[in-house]
Amino acid sequence: MNELRKDLIHGRWIEVLSESKSPSEYLLETVKRSTETTCVLCQGREKETPKEIASIRRTGTAPNTPGWWVRAIPSFKPLFQVEGNLDRRAVGIYDRMNNIGANEILIESPEHNIKPEDMGLDQMIRVIKLYKDRVGDLSKDLRLRYIFIFKNSIIDPCRESFSHPVSFLIATPVIPKNIKDELDYAKQYYDYKERCIFCDIIREELKVGERIILETRNFLCFCPYASSFPFESWIIPKRHNCDFHAISGEEVEDMGLAIMNILQRLKAVFKTEPPFNYFLHTAPNRVPRRGQWHTLGDDYHWHLEIIPRLIVKSGFELGSGLFIQTTMPEKAAKYLREV
Ligand SMILES: [Zn+2]
Ligand SMILES: [Zn+2]
Ligand SMILES: [Zn+2]
Repeated sequence: MNELRKDLIHGRWIEVLSESKSPSEYLLETVKRSTETTCVLCQGREKETPKEIASIRRTGTAPNTPGWWVRAIPSFKPLFQVEGNLDRRAVGIYDRMNNIGANEILIESPEHNIKPEDMGLDQMIRVIKLYKDRVGDLSKDLRLRYIFIFKNSIIDPCRESFSHPVSFLIATPVIPKNIKDELDYAKQYYDYKERCIFCDIIREELKVGERIILETRNFLCFCPYASSFPFESWIIPKRHNCDFHAISGEEVEDMGLAIMNILQRLKAVFKTEPPFNYFLHTAPNRVPRRGQWHTLGDDYHWHLEIIPRLIVKSGFELGSGLFIQTTMPEKAAKYLREV
Protein backbone atom coordinates (compact mmCIF):
# COMPACT_ATOMS: atom_id res chain seq x y z
CA MET A 1 0.00 0.00 0.00
CA ASN A 2 1.17 3.54 -0.70
CA GLU A 3 1.67 5.61 2.41
CA LEU A 4 1.52 9.22 3.46
CA ARG A 5 4.54 10.41 5.41
CA LYS A 6 4.92 13.70 7.19
CA ASP A 7 8.01 15.76 6.54
CA LEU A 8 8.61 17.20 10.01
CA ILE A 9 10.95 19.93 8.86
CA HIS A 10 8.62 21.43 6.26
CA GLY A 11 5.33 20.39 7.80
CA ARG A 12 4.09 18.79 4.59
CA TRP A 13 2.76 15.40 3.68
CA ILE A 14 4.40 13.28 0.99
CA GLU A 15 2.82 10.26 -0.67
CA VAL A 16 5.40 7.48 -0.89
CA LEU A 17 4.54 4.88 -3.52
CA SER A 18 4.94 1.26 -2.46
CA GLU A 19 6.20 0.29 -5.91
CA SER A 20 9.51 2.10 -6.02
CA LYS A 21 11.07 3.05 -9.33
CA SER A 22 14.59 1.75 -9.85
CA PRO A 23 17.32 4.08 -11.18
CA SER A 24 16.93 2.65 -14.72
CA GLU A 25 13.27 3.68 -14.85
CA TYR A 26 14.16 7.37 -14.82
CA LEU A 27 14.85 8.67 -18.32
CA LEU A 28 18.02 10.68 -18.39
CA GLU A 29 19.34 12.58 -21.33
CA THR A 30 22.97 13.47 -21.10
CA VAL A 31 23.40 17.20 -20.68
CA LYS A 32 24.96 18.83 -23.73
CA ARG A 33 27.93 20.87 -22.66
CA SER A 34 29.45 23.72 -24.60
CA THR A 35 33.19 23.71 -25.14
CA GLU A 36 35.95 25.78 -23.64
CA THR A 37 36.54 27.73 -26.84
CA THR A 38 33.67 30.11 -26.09
CA CYS A 39 33.90 30.03 -22.28
CA VAL A 40 34.97 33.24 -20.52
CA LEU A 41 35.14 31.51 -17.13
CA CYS A 42 38.20 29.52 -18.16
CA GLN A 43 41.66 30.49 -16.95
CA GLY A 44 43.26 33.15 -19.13
CA ARG A 45 40.07 35.09 -19.88
CA GLU A 46 39.82 36.90 -16.53
CA LYS A 47 39.65 40.32 -18.26
CA GLU A 48 36.39 39.31 -19.98
CA THR A 49 34.47 38.73 -16.75
CA PRO A 50 33.27 41.30 -14.21
CA LYS A 51 36.08 42.09 -11.72
CA GLU A 52 36.61 39.34 -9.16
CA ILE A 53 35.24 39.80 -5.65
CA ALA A 54 37.37 37.09 -4.06
CA SER A 55 39.66 34.27 -5.07
CA ILE A 56 41.98 31.63 -3.68
CA ARG A 57 45.10 31.86 -5.81
CA ARG A 58 48.82 31.09 -5.92
CA THR A 59 50.89 33.55 -3.88
CA GLY A 60 52.33 36.34 -5.98
CA THR A 61 49.53 36.31 -8.59
CA ALA A 62 47.38 39.44 -8.91
CA PRO A 63 43.57 39.53 -8.89
CA ASN A 64 41.97 39.19 -12.34
CA THR A 65 44.96 37.34 -13.75
CA PRO A 66 45.63 33.60 -14.08
CA GLY A 67 46.94 31.67 -11.05
CA TRP A 68 43.63 31.15 -9.24
CA TRP A 69 42.07 27.92 -8.06
CA VAL A 70 38.61 29.30 -7.26
CA ARG A 71 37.16 32.69 -7.99
CA ALA A 72 33.99 34.67 -7.13
CA ILE A 73 32.73 37.21 -9.65
CA PRO A 74 29.51 39.25 -9.90
CA SER A 75 26.83 37.76 -12.10
CA PHE A 76 26.67 38.83 -15.76
CA LYS A 77 22.87 39.11 -15.48
CA PRO A 78 22.14 40.02 -11.84
CA LEU A 79 18.67 39.39 -10.45
CA PHE A 80 19.36 41.70 -7.54
CA GLN A 81 21.30 44.94 -7.34
CA VAL A 82 23.91 45.72 -4.71
CA GLU A 83 23.57 49.49 -4.62
CA GLY A 84 20.64 51.36 -3.09
CA ASN A 85 18.23 50.93 -0.24
CA LEU A 86 15.22 48.74 0.28
CA ASP A 87 12.57 51.47 0.18
CA ARG A 88 9.88 49.24 1.70
CA ARG A 89 6.38 50.59 1.16
CA ALA A 90 2.77 49.74 0.68
CA VAL A 91 1.02 49.81 -2.69
CA GLY A 92 -2.65 49.74 -1.75
CA ILE A 93 -3.02 46.57 0.31
CA TYR A 94 0.21 45.15 -1.15
CA ASP A 95 3.86 45.37 -0.04
CA ARG A 96 6.84 46.10 -2.21
CA MET A 97 10.55 46.76 -1.83
CA ASN A 98 13.57 47.25 -4.08
CA ASN A 99 15.48 44.21 -5.30
CA ILE A 100 18.58 44.83 -3.20
CA GLY A 101 20.85 41.83 -2.98
CA ALA A 102 23.92 40.14 -4.40
CA ASN A 103 24.45 37.65 -7.23
CA GLU A 104 27.77 35.95 -7.59
CA ILE A 105 29.20 33.20 -9.74
CA LEU A 106 31.56 30.98 -7.76
CA ILE A 107 33.94 29.45 -10.29
CA GLU A 108 34.97 26.07 -8.91
CA SER A 109 38.00 25.37 -11.07
CA PRO A 110 40.22 26.96 -13.74
CA GLU A 111 39.61 23.78 -15.76
CA HIS A 112 36.59 23.67 -18.01
CA ASN A 113 35.80 20.00 -18.28
CA ILE A 114 36.15 18.87 -14.69
CA LYS A 115 33.19 17.55 -12.68
CA PRO A 116 32.94 18.29 -8.95
CA GLU A 117 33.15 14.59 -8.08
CA ASP A 118 36.43 14.32 -10.02
CA MET A 119 38.16 17.56 -9.05
CA GLY A 120 40.06 16.06 -6.13
CA LEU A 121 39.75 16.76 -2.43
CA ASP A 122 42.15 19.75 -2.31
CA GLN A 123 40.12 21.56 -4.95
CA MET A 124 36.78 20.69 -3.32
CA ILE A 125 38.12 22.08 -0.03
CA ARG A 126 38.92 25.37 -1.80
CA VAL A 127 35.37 25.48 -3.19
CA ILE A 128 33.89 25.06 0.29
CA LYS A 129 36.32 27.65 1.68
CA LEU A 130 35.14 30.07 -1.00
CA TYR A 131 31.51 29.42 0.05
CA LYS A 132 32.50 30.16 3.64
CA ASP A 133 34.43 33.28 2.72
CA ARG A 134 31.53 34.74 0.70
CA VAL A 135 28.92 33.95 3.36
CA GLY A 136 31.14 35.57 6.01
CA ASP A 137 31.63 38.69 3.93
CA LEU A 138 27.99 39.21 2.89
CA SER A 139 26.57 38.45 6.34
CA LYS A 140 27.97 41.84 7.41
CA ASP A 141 25.52 43.61 5.08
CA LEU A 142 22.47 44.22 7.26
CA ARG A 143 20.19 44.84 4.28
CA LEU A 144 20.58 41.19 3.36
CA ARG A 145 18.47 38.61 5.17
CA TYR A 146 19.58 35.44 3.46
CA ILE A 147 22.62 34.19 1.60
CA PHE A 148 21.79 31.23 -0.58
CA ILE A 149 24.50 29.09 -2.21
CA PHE A 150 23.51 26.51 -4.75
CA LYS A 151 24.66 24.50 -7.70
CA ASN A 152 22.79 23.79 -10.95
CA SER A 153 24.21 21.06 -13.06
CA ILE A 154 21.43 21.53 -15.59
CA ILE A 155 21.25 24.19 -18.22
CA ASP A 156 18.71 26.70 -17.07
CA PRO A 157 16.98 28.17 -20.16
CA CYS A 158 16.06 31.54 -18.71
CA ARG A 159 18.96 32.21 -16.37
CA GLU A 160 22.72 32.13 -16.59
CA SER A 161 24.05 28.69 -17.22
CA PHE A 162 27.59 27.64 -17.89
CA SER A 163 29.16 24.39 -18.87
CA HIS A 164 32.14 25.46 -16.75
CA PRO A 165 31.97 24.10 -13.16
CA VAL A 166 30.31 26.82 -11.07
CA SER A 167 28.12 27.37 -8.06
CA PHE A 168 25.97 30.43 -7.54
CA LEU A 169 25.33 32.75 -4.65
CA ILE A 170 22.20 34.84 -4.38
CA ALA A 171 21.70 37.05 -1.35
CA THR A 172 18.19 38.41 -0.83
CA PRO A 173 16.57 41.11 1.33
CA VAL A 174 13.91 38.58 2.40
CA ILE A 175 14.09 35.05 3.79
CA PRO A 176 12.98 32.73 0.97
CA LYS A 177 9.88 30.63 1.66
CA ASN A 178 11.48 27.17 1.89
CA ILE A 179 14.03 28.42 4.38
CA LYS A 180 11.37 30.28 6.36
CA ASP A 181 9.33 27.08 6.62
CA GLU A 182 12.35 25.15 7.92
CA LEU A 183 13.14 27.88 10.44
CA ASP A 184 9.53 28.05 11.62
CA TYR A 185 9.08 24.29 11.99
CA ALA A 186 12.45 23.91 13.71
CA LYS A 187 11.49 26.65 16.16
CA GLN A 188 8.05 25.16 16.83
CA TYR A 189 9.67 21.79 17.56
CA TYR A 190 12.24 23.41 19.83
CA ASP A 191 9.60 25.42 21.72
CA TYR A 192 7.74 22.17 22.38
CA LYS A 193 10.61 19.73 23.05
CA GLU A 194 13.63 21.94 23.79
CA ARG A 195 15.69 19.90 21.37
CA CYS A 196 17.00 20.57 17.87
CA ILE A 197 14.79 18.70 15.38
CA PHE A 198 17.78 18.06 13.12
CA CYS A 199 19.85 16.55 15.98
CA ASP A 200 16.83 14.36 16.79
CA ILE A 201 16.63 13.27 13.14
CA ILE A 202 20.37 12.45 13.12
CA ARG A 203 19.93 10.28 16.24
CA GLU A 204 16.88 8.57 14.76
CA GLU A 205 18.55 7.90 11.40
CA LEU A 206 21.65 6.48 13.12
CA LYS A 207 19.42 4.22 15.21
CA VAL A 208 17.29 2.98 12.29
CA GLY A 209 20.12 2.89 9.77
CA GLU A 210 18.12 2.00 6.66
CA ARG A 211 18.11 5.49 5.15
CA ILE A 212 21.84 6.10 5.68
CA ILE A 213 24.03 6.29 2.59
CA LEU A 214 27.30 7.11 4.26
CA GLU A 215 28.61 8.19 7.62
CA THR A 216 31.88 10.06 8.00
CA ARG A 217 33.58 11.32 11.15
CA ASN A 218 31.72 14.64 11.06
CA PHE A 219 28.78 14.14 8.69
CA LEU A 220 25.79 11.94 8.10
CA CYS A 221 24.56 11.42 4.52
CA PHE A 222 21.07 10.00 4.26
CA CYS A 223 17.81 9.98 2.26
CA PRO A 224 15.20 11.84 4.36
CA TYR A 225 12.16 9.87 5.56
CA ALA A 226 9.63 12.07 3.73
CA SER A 227 11.71 13.64 0.97
CA SER A 228 9.95 15.34 -1.93
CA PHE A 229 12.23 14.14 -4.74
CA PRO A 230 13.47 10.65 -5.64
CA PHE A 231 17.05 9.99 -4.51
CA GLU A 232 17.12 13.26 -2.56
CA SER A 233 20.08 13.12 -0.16
CA TRP A 234 21.17 15.29 2.72
CA ILE A 235 24.64 15.92 4.08
CA ILE A 236 24.36 17.13 7.66
CA PRO A 237 27.09 17.85 10.24
CA LYS A 238 26.85 15.72 13.38
CA ARG A 239 28.03 18.68 15.47
CA HIS A 240 25.14 21.00 16.18
CA ASN A 241 25.48 24.46 14.69
CA CYS A 242 22.92 26.70 13.02
CA ASP A 243 25.46 28.48 10.91
CA PHE A 244 27.48 27.04 8.00
CA HIS A 245 30.00 29.83 8.52
CA ALA A 246 31.03 28.17 11.82
CA ILE A 247 32.30 25.06 9.97
CA SER A 248 35.72 23.92 11.26
CA GLY A 249 38.76 23.12 9.11
CA GLU A 250 38.31 19.41 9.72
CA GLU A 251 34.62 19.64 8.80
CA VAL A 252 35.44 21.47 5.55
CA GLU A 253 37.64 18.55 4.52
CA ASP A 254 35.08 15.97 5.54
CA MET A 255 32.26 17.84 3.78
CA GLY A 256 34.33 17.90 0.59
CA LEU A 257 34.72 14.13 0.80
CA ALA A 258 31.01 13.65 1.48
CA ILE A 259 29.86 15.81 -1.48
CA MET A 260 32.24 14.09 -3.89
CA ASN A 261 31.28 10.68 -2.58
CA ILE A 262 27.51 11.22 -2.95
CA LEU A 263 27.90 12.66 -6.48
CA GLN A 264 30.06 9.66 -7.46
CA ARG A 265 27.43 7.30 -6.07
CA LEU A 266 24.63 9.03 -8.00
CA LYS A 267 26.65 8.75 -11.17
CA ALA A 268 27.30 5.04 -10.54
CA VAL A 269 23.66 4.27 -9.72
CA PHE A 270 22.29 6.03 -12.81
CA LYS A 271 25.22 4.96 -15.04
CA THR A 272 25.47 8.57 -16.22
CA GLU A 273 25.68 11.86 -14.34
CA PRO A 274 22.09 12.78 -13.53
CA PRO A 275 21.30 16.50 -13.61
CA PHE A 276 21.17 17.74 -10.04
CA ASN A 277 20.99 20.73 -7.76
CA TYR A 278 22.56 21.04 -4.39
CA PHE A 279 22.07 23.86 -1.98
CA LEU A 280 23.13 24.99 1.45
CA HIS A 281 20.55 25.67 4.11
CA THR A 282 22.01 27.77 6.88
CA ALA A 283 20.86 30.36 9.42
CA PRO A 284 19.67 33.72 8.06
CA ASN A 285 21.43 36.98 8.82
CA ARG A 286 20.29 37.83 12.27
CA VAL A 287 19.09 41.40 11.96
CA PRO A 288 18.13 42.28 15.54
CA ARG A 289 14.34 42.47 15.73
CA ARG A 290 12.10 42.25 18.74
CA GLY A 291 11.78 38.72 20.02
CA GLN A 292 13.28 37.15 16.88
CA TRP A 293 16.08 34.61 16.65
CA HIS A 294 16.20 34.03 20.43
CA THR A 295 16.58 30.29 20.08
CA LEU A 296 17.93 30.07 16.51
CA GLY A 297 21.37 29.00 17.72
CA ASP A 298 19.76 26.02 19.45
CA ASP A 299 16.85 25.20 17.16
CA TYR A 300 18.33 25.34 13.64
CA HIS A 301 21.05 23.12 12.16
CA TRP A 302 22.74 23.84 8.81
CA HIS A 303 22.90 21.18 6.09
CA LEU A 304 23.34 20.57 2.37
CA GLU A 305 20.55 19.07 0.25
CA ILE A 306 21.28 17.26 -3.02
CA ILE A 307 18.38 16.81 -5.43
CA PRO A 308 18.83 14.80 -8.62
CA ARG A 309 16.47 16.25 -11.26
CA LEU A 310 14.84 13.02 -12.37
CA ILE A 311 11.20 13.97 -12.69
CA VAL A 312 8.88 16.80 -13.56
CA LYS A 313 6.30 17.41 -10.87
CA SER A 314 2.72 16.69 -12.00
CA GLY A 315 -0.21 19.07 -12.03
CA PHE A 316 -1.58 17.47 -8.88
CA GLU A 317 1.71 17.99 -7.07
CA LEU A 318 2.18 21.59 -8.22
CA GLY A 319 -1.41 22.55 -7.53
CA SER A 320 -1.84 20.79 -4.21
CA GLY A 321 1.69 20.86 -2.77
CA LEU A 322 1.29 17.16 -1.94
CA PHE A 323 4.29 15.52 -3.57
CA ILE A 324 4.49 11.91 -4.76
CA GLN A 325 7.68 10.04 -3.91
CA THR A 326 8.31 7.50 -6.67
CA THR A 327 11.30 5.78 -5.02
CA MET A 328 10.97 4.93 -1.36
CA PRO A 329 13.79 6.71 0.55
CA GLU A 330 14.87 3.39 2.15
CA LYS A 331 15.30 1.89 -1.33
CA ALA A 332 17.08 4.96 -2.70
CA ALA A 333 19.50 4.83 0.25
CA LYS A 334 20.11 1.12 -0.37
CA TYR A 335 20.94 1.72 -4.07
CA LEU A 336 23.32 4.54 -3.12
CA ARG A 337 24.87 2.70 -0.18
CA GLU A 338 25.53 -0.53 -2.02
CA VAL A 339 26.70 0.80 -5.38
ZN1 LIG B 1 35.35 27.21 -19.09
ZN1 LIG C 1 21.09 20.27 15.84
ZN1 LIG D 1 16.96 22.23 4.32
